[in-house]
Amino acid sequence: METAYIGIGSNIGHKIDNCKMAISLMGRLAGCSVRLQSPFYRTEPVGVEGQDTFVNGVVSLDTVLSAVTLLKHLLKIETDMGRVRRKKWDARIIDLDILLFGAHIINEPHLIVPHPLMQLRRFVLKPLSQIAPDVVHPVLRRSIRELAGVLSEDGQAVEIYERS
Ligand code: ATP
Ligand code: CA
Ligand code: CA
Repeated sequence: METAYIGIGSNIGHKIDNCKMAISLMGRLAGCSVRLQSPFYRTEPVGVEGQDTFVNGVVSLDTVLSAVTLLKHLLKIETDMGRVRRKKWDARIIDLDILLFGAHIINEPHLIVPHPLMQLRRFVLKPLSQIAPDVVHPVLRRSIRELAGVLSEDGQAVEIYERS
């Protein structure tokens, strides 16, 4: 059994409902249980111009699946929810990334864990630090709290999601 942390994002349609739907579908995967759920955040798109804001959150999953099998299931949830991949960093109904998989370090053609950009992304570290502040990044050997503390806020507005 491993604890995986999954980053969730949506910037098309009813974004928060998309995130909640993805969490519910992850909870129904055989061999997975959703344990902790971060609050949702409204976040500024990073690395792309002209896209709508995102809703982001993170959950922890306890799983007996391998990381590769878990990724396969996450990609299927994305497709089942209607995600179409056109170009890199395109707007998306739902995005599910494996941020951490226990303390495993994985470098396979289609799966890199820890997620290689997580330490640069406030939209990941802010929610992750709410549910896993003391978890240590197995490559950088820093806790999530430490990584979140040193990250600049420039161009990365992240605010708690409140219904308007
Ligand atoms: P980014 O990786 O910068 O967040 P993205 O999430 O938009 O970009 P996608 O188009 O969703 O990228 O995914 C492209 C591929 O990334 C997936 O098909 C998957 O094989 C691969 N991938 C590699 N490492 C991971 C990971 N840790 N979690 C999810 N997908 C990963
Ligand atoms: Ca992503
Ligand atoms: Ca992805």
